[in-house]
Amino acid sequence: MFDVAALRKQFPMIVNHPDLIYFDSAATAYKPNKVIDTVMDYYRYQNVNVHRGDYELSFQISQAYEEAREVLAKFLNAQAKEIVFTSGASSSLNMVAYGYGQKFLKEGDIILSTEAEHASNILPWFKVSEVTGAKLDYIPLNENGLFDLAKFKEKLNAKVKVVTLAWVSNVLGYTLPLKEICQLAHETGAIVIADGAQAVPHLKTDVKDLDVDFLAFSAHKMCGPSGAGVLYGKYDLLQKMDALMLGGGSNARFDICGNILLKEAPYRFEAGTPCIEGVLGMKAAAQFLMDLGMENVEQHGKDLGAYFTKRMQELEHIEVYNPNSDTGIMTFNVKGIFAQDVATYLNSKNICVRSGNHCAKILLNVIGASETIRASLYLYNTQQEIDYFVDQLRDIDINKCLEVML
Ligand code: PMP
Repeated sequence: MFDVAALRKQFPMIVNHPDLIYFDSAATAYKPNKVIDTVMDYYRYQNVNVHRGDYELSFQISQAYEEAREVLAKFLNAQAKEIVFTSGASSSLNMVAYGYGQKFLKEGDIILSTEAEHASNILPWFKVSEVTGAKLDYIPLNENGLFDLAKFKEKLNAKVKVVTLAWVSNVLGYTLPLKEICQLAHETGAIVIADGAQAVPHLKTDVKDLDVDFLAFSAHKMCGPSGAGVLYGKYDLLQKMDALMLGGGSNARFDICGNILLKEAPYRFEAGTPCIEGVLGMKAAAQFLMDLGMENVEQHGKDLGAYFTKRMQELEHIEVYNPNSDTGIMTFNVKGIFAQDVATYLNSKNICVRSGNHCAKILLNVIGASETIRASLYLYNTQQEIDYFVDQLRDIDINKCLEVML
């Protein structure tokens, strides 16, 4: 296990805001010096384009960029050619929905998803369903918002061509049994698209072992910069998928008659100048996490999550919606007080949390609350911070919230 106190010193946001309790890492994670330095060094010493120039610096930066593909591949146990650089999870998920789903689905087919999806993994499929005539269907969750493998099995049949779901829910922090899901889906001929935005930063990820077909995630939630992310795809599927964005860097040649020969995957999906500093920063972030050991990161999240739940359950006026969360996400309400008022009160105590529907608008009907408060932790958070948090909630009441708001 890593030394959290020593680790915290590597994060300027923690050093520069020593009194702030940052419990909003599911929105975006803090960045360590290694990542920040990598991004800054690019601008200070290597600020040239990739794959375009015929001079030494351009070769160097192109090589560093391709090394990032190797590092991300190692991070996922994939091959470098299966790593497509994108601007983040939303862009990866849209790419696969339109580039694969819209190309291959037809009337009579079924797209299977869950009621817990983030907007970025469900809105594109609304559109794909509308355009192709394929039906979008949902695997019912149980009353606690948990995925139920038995219900999934009931929904599976030969018509299901795509299963698309969040490996970890951004609201409840539950981890879905992705390996079993892939196995079952493949038995009936469906592919599985996993939204890994909340999973890849927290769980040791082995795409070969999971046998997942596509996996999407963002760098900024795993200590990397914003504006960069990955779409992992099995190579044969990537080769079949349409590129939605065409332009420089993605084609081998084109002529005046409109004939275009695209490059092989992954380059055909990376038209235009990429977010070079973002990709280099994401490489530094992946390396940073691998140096810590993803098993350790995962264990730290589980330990903090279990401690957090135990402490929150001591408070009778708190309703916890996800007592079995295993990724450091705590979703709750203070009975009788509007979620945003609680978040505003916590802000006055130097605590950052998020309130609302968390972009998963269908799920909140399932758990029976239109708004919740989400406190989300990551590798730099501590039990002491949880203790402080619980202390602030202990004697919260509506009058205290009003005082802060007025
Ligand atoms: N899926 C899930 C589960 C998420 O939590 C998020 C980010 N909140 C996304 C997708 C979209 O990620 P991004 O905003 O980085 O594109």
